[in-house]
Amino acid sequence: MARVLLVSNRLPVTLTESPEGLTAQASSGGLASAVGSVHDGGDSLWFGWAGPTGDTSNEEVERVLSPLRAVPVPMTDAEVQAYYDGFSNGVLWPLCHYLLDKVQLDAHGDWEVFKAINERFADVVASRWQPGDVVWVHDYQLVLLPQLLRARLPDARIGFFLHVPFPSTEVLRILPWREEVLRGLLGADVIGFHTASYAYHFTYSCSQLLGMELAGDVLKDDGRPVRVAAFPLGIDAAAFDTRARTPAVLERVGELRAEAQDRKLVVSVDRVDYTKGFLRRLTSLERLLTSKPEWREQLHVIQVGVPTRENVDAYADYQRAVNEAVGRINAAFGTPTRNLIHFVYRSVTPDELTALYCAADVMLVTPLRDGMNLVAKEYVASRVDLGGVLVLSEFAGAATELHEAVQINPYDLDMQAEALERALTMSNDEQRSRMTSLRRSVFSGQVGGWARSFLAALDESPAPPVKTPRAQLDEALGRLLQAPELLVLLDYDGTLVDFTASPRGATPDAALLRLLGGLSRRAGTKVHIVSGRDRESLEEFLGALELGLHAEHGLWSRPARGEAWRARTRLPPPWFAPVRELLEKVVRRTHGALLEEKGGGLAFHYRATEPLLGQRRVAELRAALSTHELSGSFDLLDGARVLEVRQRGINKGVVVPELLRAHPTASVVVLGDDRTDEDLFAASPPDAVTVHVGGGQSAARFQLPDVAAVRAWLGRFVESA
Ligand code: UDP
Repeated sequence: MARVLLVSNRLPVTLTESPEGLTAQASSGGLASAVGSVHDGGDSLWFGWAGPTGDTSNEEVERVLSPLRAVPVPMTDAEVQAYYDGFSNGVLWPLCHYLLDKVQLDAHGDWEVFKAINERFADVVASRWQPGDVVWVHDYQLVLLPQLLRARLPDARIGFFLHVPFPSTEVLRILPWREEVLRGLLGADVIGFHTASYAYHFTYSCSQLLGMELAGDVLKDDGRPVRVAAFPLGIDAAAFDTRARTPAVLERVGELRAEAQDRKLVVSVDRVDYTKGFLRRLTSLERLLTSKPEWREQLHVIQVGVPTRENVDAYADYQRAVNEAVGRINAAFGTPTRNLIHFVYRSVTPDELTALYCAADVMLVTPLRDGMNLVAKEYVASRVDLGGVLVLSEFAGAATELHEAVQINPYDLDMQAEALERALTMSNDEQRSRMTSLRRSVFSGQVGGWARSFLAALDESPAPPVKTPRAQLDEALGRLLQAPELLVLLDYDGTLVDFTASPRGATPDAALLRLLGGLSRRAGTKVHIVSGRDRESLEEFLGALELGLHAEHGLWSRPARGEAWRARTRLPPPWFAPVRELLEKVVRRTHGALLEEKGGGLAFHYRATEPLLGQRRVAELRAALSTHELSGSFDLLDGARVLEVRQRGINKGVVVPELLRAHPTASVVVLGDDRTDEDLFAASPPDAVTVHVGGGQSAARFQLPDVAAVRAWLGRFVESA
């Protein structure tokens, strides 16, 4: 297996200064347990910030970390503040969790540092990358990194996993730097999310905000496929199961229950983060205790609040508000000798955590929004007794897997209070049956499998297209310039002119007319335009030049100026009228769509239509047309936001044999950019210089990046005339 370069904001290490010098130790934590199996098993490297290192030089930190195969990315305190506290946690974090009032949008300075740090990661990773290595980038702090790496390492396989939710398009739209974020991620070959809906939000955003094609779970970034998929993160369930059975934990469970006396034990464990829903959880508890006073004496609540991001203002404010709410409830419903809520503001040991899980009658996991939420899964994995009830927010990614939890909307306080009461009074049989099914789900999606399936997807992603070295195409050009006779076949849209929203928009500019004029006057050179367009447009655009014209993918040909157009089939074909009627109906109820009629064919254009609507209409049309009584006489072809209906057996390739017969000794050059041009390449002789325009797969031998490059390349023939 390839070497993996893991990249995350923070390295999973703890550095300690002692009189003997700096020492490093591997540390545990969310990401370390998620990808630890990858790092422990192979010869991977892990890149990230090592934490504050005072005056120690980066070379020294590198040296100390190298036995752990960890590579530091250095940052100053001010950079950490702007990149991490400011932009990552002050902008992206609340945005991804839909907490818009917390988003600091006046963050241009922080954004600049955020970009610079992502660049620094790219430099450090690229400096260690070797051919064959795969790179796996983690989380929202590094959303720009895939593209920055792609620019440095065009041939690398790059994966990205987002551990937080990806927001819906209308929420992402708020971000002034939304396009940069999307483009940053698109540098990857595989982009993973916890749930299918986050993946969908991402692809939909790419279509809405970048105008990209929506095609299943593969996006095309300038022709390069980018796979977008859900890889729900699991936990090491067996470890919790085993720990739950140890004497130390069992003893601690007994103590916790004794402390609760005969009361129901309600537990929550979260970082003190405003996404975790502390305040609404506490308010709903308050509601229950107010409306049903009999519960006041029967509840014992333990809330573990793990300190987090105390440098960010919003977190300090939140912690204060949580403390106040706990104080208020304890004052109102506790007694002078007994607190109803025990707020533990610190992190706890794994044994203590497992004991809390095992002792809890009800586990409340009620975030307002959470990428996955592992606590919910850990609770389930710890319940070897099949008892206990999980109350889970439907806004946690885990809710898509844990169907048998009591699911709630944390914004609905009454619902939350009712769910708590329902959990408190649930029969043992129902608890057991729900927990059995929850455990099946948690044990089936274990953490090792998660990393393996992500890396397998990355491995299966098509190898990045190896760009034809410019030199090779120049060599071919050199030979062609010497050829006594030249046959040049050119596609029009996407090859000679860029796409426009309306098919009428792509009229040739003066420079193009000069270029084609020059080329057609060149000694021994015959130029033919082979296009999907109709005869009228081609005549109007290019009719004045000495060119051969071929319209509607070879249905019509006019081999030289002044000659008549000739059709290759009877026109109009019998299917034409009924299909046009069907398409017209659909166009009338599809805002932005238009029908292009091309004598022998019809095209349903939906470039200006809302992407999902366009897709739905194409599906409808395909269904209706494929069962049409004349469906045997026509083909359906998907183009770039256009569905074409064409006479069967006609494609661009049909023009090639005739032209070769007319010019048997000519050297052949063929340029095209889309799927219909592949027919042209396929019909060309093997020694033809076939050139695909843009990225992506093609049978062409050579590649040019865009229309500008095509024009420059063809210009060299004119210069040499
Ligand atoms: N956890 C911890 N220390 C504690 C309590 C919990 O490290 O004192 C762990 C817990 O076991 C879980 C993680 O922190 O694995 C929290 O992950 P989760 O996905 O629930 O939320 P996050 O904090 O990542 O938003």
